Amino acid sequence: MQKFRKIKYKRKQIKVYWKTLKDCWGLYEGSKLQLTIDPNQSKMSMAKTIYHELWHIICDLNEVDINKIGEEKTAYLSQEFAPILKRNKSLRKCLNELFIS
Ligand SMILES: [Zn+2]
Repeated sequence: MQKFRKIKYKRKQIKVYWKTLKDCWGLYEGSKLQLTIDPNQSKMSMAKTIYHELWHIICDLNEVDINKIGEEKTAYLSQEFAPILKRNKSLRKCLNELFIS
């Protein structure tokens, strides 16, 4: 699988690390602009984890408290997957490979 090492979004660059995590599959640390993904998971789990973490990144960099967002903001923010995927070719490749069974 094509591992990506960084995610560019807005004016930020998030460093991506692939290593075993203790009690979750993915961990985004906004203060460090750092994302860790556990490589020891199935393809579908990995795809879900990546989208989950992208969602955290979108909320963080749009300064939205994830616990307080309403329907309208959720709808707007979820569209932000598009610009992220457009700008990050190796991330796109990774996700595409995860959907091949
Ligand atoms: Zn989460």
